[in-house]
Amino acid sequence: MPRTPVALITGATRGIGRAIVDKLSAEGLSCLMVGSRKESFGPMTADLPVICRELQWHRGLVVDLAQWPQWTQQGRFDGFHFSSVPGARAYRCSDGAWPLLDLPPSSELALLVNCAGVTQASPALRCDASEIQRITNINYLSAVSLCNMAAKRMLRSRKHLSRPPCIVNISSILGDPATSALPGTALYSASKAALAQFSRTLSAELARAGIRVHCLSPSLVAQTDMVQTLEEDAKVRLESTFSQFPAQSPQQIASQVWKLYDSDT
Ligand code: NDP
Repeated sequence: MPRTPVALITGATRGIGRAIVDKLSAEGLSCLMVGSRKESFGPMTADLPVICRELQWHRGLVVDLAQWPQWTQQGRFDGFHFSSVPGARAYRCSDGAWPLLDLPPSSELALLVNCAGVTQASPALRCDASEIQRITNINYLSAVSLCNMAAKRMLRSRKHLSRPPCIVNISSILGDPATSALPGTALYSASKAALAQFSRTLSAELARAGIRVHCLSPSLVAQTDMVQTLEEDAKVRLESTFSQFPAQSPQQIASQVWKLYDSDT
């Protein structure tokens, strides 16, 4: 009998990641939702993603992706778990080689969405080493580790799933070498370009194993915190640079993720 498909989504607490959680949970997937702090899940506990089928559940897990590679060796993750039983209960996973992927026996990892990301607040020249490391750790290196962790698990899980397992990495149009360079985004753009190129090559590496790898490179998604918390002049520069591209909504990107997962190729 096919097991309940599980999606692991980083950046799940807000913006695009939260829209992806809402779409996938409405389609019946259980969601492992990663955020940087316990408090990040506060708004979600008052507005939970739907549970629409038997055995479906969701978990919020605290993983500070800026702490790469330490978090990859962490033996315990705290968070909360909820199911069709009303209310969320505190949860701690501490079993197995990858405790993040300690799933109930009736569930299997079907989809990884690397959506967590941070932008840069100052031009590259003014970013010190710790800021350069933070951006790279969150936007690129943690995503690579999660792809490795997920792919190893998917090699075992694929026989229990009704669709081939799938990885979707969320890059950015700023990581596309064909896009005009936007001053002030060198570190962010480079991390997203690395993620896009990694995804392209990983897709070829994992094709024979039956694991699909995709990368989405959204244009401006103006309503999320990433854009709204920028200084006004940076926001204006961003909006004018991307005025020729259609603005996207978090829900549109969530639908694209679902279509990629839902198609057989
Ligand atoms: P938001 O700023 O709204 O959300 C960022 C998410 O990333 C939050 O869930 C946040 O968790 C998580 N995150 C940040 N730092 C960490 C960390 N150290 N550890 C774990 N999680 C962390 O961003 P968007 O929704 O706008 O962007 C989502 C993705 O889409 C990003 O990768 C971004 O680069 C990409 N993108 C965005 C575009 C846009 O115009 N908005 C355009 C193109 C691509 P927490 O709540 O705990 O901080």
